This record gives sequence, structure tokens and C-alpha cells, in this order.
Amino acid sequence: MFITSGMRADYYVIACRTGGPGTSGISAIVVDKGTPGFTQTPLKKMGWLASDTAVLYFDDCRVPAENLIGGENTGWAGIMSNFSQERLGLTAGMNAYSQICIDESVVWARDRMTFGKPLIENQVIRHKLSEMSRMVNATKAYMELLTWKVMNGEKPVADLSLLKVQASKTMEYCAREAMQILGGAGYLRANSGPGKVERIYREVRVNAIGGGSEEIMLDLAARQLKF
Ligand SMILES: Cc1cc2nc3c(=O)[nH]c(=O)nc-3n(C[C@H](O)[C@H](O)[C@H](O)COP(=O)(O)OP(=O)(O)OC[C@H]3O[C@@H](n4cnc5c(N)ncnc54)[C@H](O)[C@@H]3O)c2cc1C
Repeated sequence: MFITSGMRADYYVIACRTGGPGTSGISAIVVDKGTPGFTQTPLKKMGWLASDTAVLYFDDCRVPAENLIGGENTGWAGIMSNFSQERLGLTAGMNAYSQICIDESVVWARDRMTFGKPLIENQVIRHKLSEMSRMVNATKAYMELLTWKVMNGEKPVADLSLLKVQASKTMEYCAREAMQILGGAGYLRANSGPGKVERIYREVRVNAIGGGSEEIMLDLAARQLKF
């Protein structure tokens, strides 16, 4: 369910239960598109429209043993390693989206006149921009620290989980505040409105869910930190 690029892919890496319960009973296996019994159905989404997302069905689907990646029942380590990269990458994307919300809001607030003066001359609007900047800067600093650690061979699982939550909450906050600053214009679809904020607003939820939801990330961090 919910497999990104699941329609356009030619090869699929499947996490398949080949052993007992738990993480030590999972293998990574490559399944070719066109394998008898393997079909895909596209899903319609509120965002992430630049990539397709599919449901994959395996109906008595047989693959040769040579398609196994690594050893039998050792697939979990690869999956976990991939999660770390994915969460760092998603964070970089989310913080860029958040920064765009600030940039678009500043341009709009300087240009838009309400009650005889530019919007940005209202302290409440400037405070929104400062709060957004504060959160984006904090997320960026945390991200750069963890990127440095990962590049030096560390596996900061708990921190990467917390970082992803930090980034999605920052993005959610920035998208909300940017939409408020843009007012009604922000509610228009991106190709008919003033900018990109409407699209970013629609991308918030998938970032808070995909690649590890906020709840699961916080729970993973709590377990890793032995709370
Ligand atoms: C557009 C899109 C693309 C995706 N692409 C991929 C992909 O390419 N590959 C892939 O493997 N997955 C992909 N996913 C799946 C994604 O990782 C899952 O949707 C996500 O992990 C949440 O799982 P779920 O949807 O089954 O929600 P559920 O597990 O049903 O959870 C529903 C809600 O309950 C919360 N919850 C669940 N269990 C607990 C708990 N124990 N304690 C507290 N709260 C809990 C969750 O945080 C969530 O908020 C994609 C999802 C989307 C939406």
C-alpha cells in the first residue's frame, strides 16, 4: 500500500516475511514488473502530485531465489539504513519548503496594501515571519549537526526521528502562517494564485506521515532514549 513510484517502476524491492515473527524474519527480494500475479493500481492523492503512488498486489506471485538481496531473513538492516537516509532527505525537503513559505510571505507582505499601508508594517505580521524564521533556523542547525554525524559514520537513530518531527512541525507551522499572510490569494491553486504556498500547504500532511509518522517517530525516539 502507498508505494511511491509504484506505477512507473520496473523493479521493486519487497520486504517479505520469510522467517518467524519480528525483524529477524524479513528478507529483501527484487520483483520484476510483469511477474505473473504482480499487479499495481494507482492512488489519487491530495498532494505529491509529481510522483505516482500505488497499491501493489501479489497473487500467488513466484520469484527466483536469486532475486534475494543479502542473506535470507537479513532484510531489516537494509530497511533501517534506508530509513535514516530517507528521514534526513525528507527533512532537507521540508525545511526548503518552509523557507519558501517565508520568502513568498515577505514578498507578498511588502507588496500587499491593506488599510492604507503595506501588510508588513503590521507588527503581528512581522512577528509571524520572525517565528517562522526561528523555527526554520533551529531545524536547519539540527539537520546540519546530524548530517555531519551521519557523514562521520554515526547512526543517530533517535535524533533522526526527532529531527523529522521537528521538520514536519516547522513546515506545518510555516505553511499555516504563510497562508494567513497571503489571505484569500493563498487559497487559490498555485498556478492561478500568487505563488507556491498553496501547494506546500497540501504537502504538509504526507511529510508528517510518510517515511515515519510523527507519532511513530516520537515513540521510536523514546524507546531509543530509554524513556
Ligand atoms: C503519498 C504516500 C507515499 C508513500 N510512499 C511509501 C513508499 O514508497 N514506501 C513505503 O514503504 N511506504 C510509503 N508510504 C507509507 C507511509 O510510510 C505510511 O503511510 C506511514 O508509515 C503511516 O502508516 P499508515 O498509513 O499505515 O498509518 P497507520 O499505521 O494506520 O496509522 C494511522 C495513525 O495512527 C498513528 N499510529 C499508528 N500506530 C500508533 C501507535 N502504536 N501509537 C501511536 N500512534 C500510532 C500513526 O502515527 C498515524 O497518525 C507512503 C505514504 C503516503 C501517504
